[in-house]
Amino acid sequence: MMNLHTHTVYSDGTHPPGSIVLRACQGGLEHIAITDHFETTKVPRPLTRDNFPRYMKDIKALKRKYEGRIEVLSGVEIDTNPGRCDHGRLPYDLLNELDVVLFEYASDPMNGGMTLDALKDVRSKLNMPCGLCHWDIDRIFPNEDPAVIADMLSEMDLFVEVSTSDYYTRDGLHFYELGERFFKAFDGKVKLSIGTDTHHRLDEVVNIQKGQEFVRKHGLGRQMLFQ
Ligand SMILES: [Zn+2]
Repeated sequence: MMNLHTHTVYSDGTHPPGSIVLRACQGGLEHIAITDHFETTKVPRPLTRDNFPRYMKDIKALKRKYEGRIEVLSGVEIDTNPGRCDHGRLPYDLLNELDVVLFEYASDPMNGGMTLDALKDVRSKLNMPCGLCHWDIDRIFPNEDPAVIADMLSEMDLFVEVSTSDYYTRDGLHFYELGERFFKAFDGKVKLSIGTDTHHRLDEVVNIQKGQEFVRKHGLGRQMLFQ
């Protein structure tokens, strides 16, 4: 029962972190992560190093407030497009205070994301669980052996998000459904999360059911990042 992908007023979301966490708690979630966009020109007002201390203070207060009811995680989403985010100059010391980091568009030429190989350097500077969110793996690796990709992600210690956002679909299917062959190969190798990529609608905070069903259907429960 997790949602590890939500946005707030600290980047391009509508609601403050407190509203997201309250909705998650009411919906019976066990883990909720706040993951605002960090220093990317993809969004007009991303989270930056300047307001990062306030962001952390807000989330830490929520951690305390909800202790014993729901696990509140601090995170960010990092754009792997080097034209929009300067990965060489990210404040890694600050980022290492976070509980979780999401990368978007890795190895995705359509969105200018850096290759998985190039991402190794960025990943190695971060000491928390890191994952690939709303990843259109079927389109990105049409001809790759899923076992090879699974080994590579395992070596880089990256989890993969099952994104239940209706924005991340093609031909009416979610990216995880299109990439089913990869998720099967992740068994025993690659951890998984569920994320809704909530921006504006609070009911999306608890929109995880389809992801849970997919995980259950493929017997991937033990691959979940948090049990
Ligand atoms: Zn997002």
